[in-house]
Amino acid sequence: MKIYVDNAATTKLDPDALEAMRPYLQEEYGNASQPYFFGRNARKALTEAREIIAQCINADPEEIFFTSGGTESDNWAIKGSAFNDNEKRATITTAIEHHAVLNSCRTIERLGYPVSYIHPEKDGNISLASLEEKITEQTRLVSIMLANNEIGTIEPIKELAVVAHRYGAVFHTDAVQGVGHVPIDVKQLDIDMLSASAHKFNGPKGIGFLYTRKGTSICPYSDGGAQEYGMRAGTENIAAIVGMAAALKSNCDHIVENMQRIVSMEEHLIAGLSGLDYVRNGASKHVPGNVSLSFADADGEAILHRMDLKGICISTGSACDSVNNQLSHVIEAIGIPKKYARGTIRISIGKNNTTDEMDSIIEVLRQIVKKNANR
Ligand code: PLP
Repeated sequence: MKIYVDNAATTKLDPDALEAMRPYLQEEYGNASQPYFFGRNARKALTEAREIIAQCINADPEEIFFTSGGTESDNWAIKGSAFNDNEKRATITTAIEHHAVLNSCRTIERLGYPVSYIHPEKDGNISLASLEEKITEQTRLVSIMLANNEIGTIEPIKELAVVAHRYGAVFHTDAVQGVGHVPIDVKQLDIDMLSASAHKFNGPKGIGFLYTRKGTSICPYSDGGAQEYGMRAGTENIAAIVGMAAALKSNCDHIVENMQRIVSMEEHLIAGLSGLDYVRNGASKHVPGNVSLSFADADGEAILHRMDLKGICISTGSACDSVNNQLSHVIEAIGIPKKYARGTIRISIGKNNTTDEMDSIIEVLRQIVKKNANR
């Protein structure tokens, strides 16, 4: 048995994406900056991919900047905004961001740019009141994730952006867990920057984008050639960009049916776990398929390895924390009681999973948890 339910860590490549990429990995290897036909084909593919991606989030093509993924997009948004600000005005973020945001904030803090961190409510929700408490006319940037990677909570981005704008601040959201999974319209949300990563929505790894609304103050990510409107120098990875666009279009074209299927698998899974002693984290409003469970008197790490022995891939929290045995900063921030916190696992269901797989997970998980997974 092989069951992959760690789709918040990464996803299987969409067949449409693989097909779209193939020519650019083989015969169409031209450099998009060159004027001859080889280069022109690559440039056309680049332009079309930018248009497709812009359409999927209702942006303009000139507002999409290709990056190497979510980490780079977050670094660029946080540091690029700070380094353009001679007055060193403040940044506000949250205690439950991905480390790509948190560590970028730590870097700018060391360089003398003040940062403050909002604490979430019990379900991972960031309240408008908590932003109102910290924000001042001296706030330059507010960065709050659209959906949390560990517990799935969807934040009230549109309303938080209204607060930020009222104080003249720029609003960035790390939407790596949301893009391609829930409908996103940057104009309707009225946000200034958004980070995304292709491998989280069935695209290839090592490619992503940063949406930057026209007129937003941000300095270039890299200096060099004129690629990406002079904002991110370096020869473009056309195959990956084309694959990302195809994957995003495929997910967005089927977003409602994918969400419905995933929610029904999630409900099936939860129903099958009834009677076990656990708490569900961040369930009030969350990305379909992100199921964070904290089992009583258990060890998440031990559960992960026992599931692995049975051929099932899950996570203990965020993928990036799996090498780090400490309690995750998100689980800590939402205040899960000690009895449960160490027993946290994340099962993230994706569009390629099936209800039969949920049945196998239920059976294996019930056996493991009943045997008391703390040893
Ligand atoms: N932001 C969030 C919320 C994520 O979940 C991740 C990946 O786990 C990242 C950023 C980093 O994305 P990437 O793996 O593309 O660098």
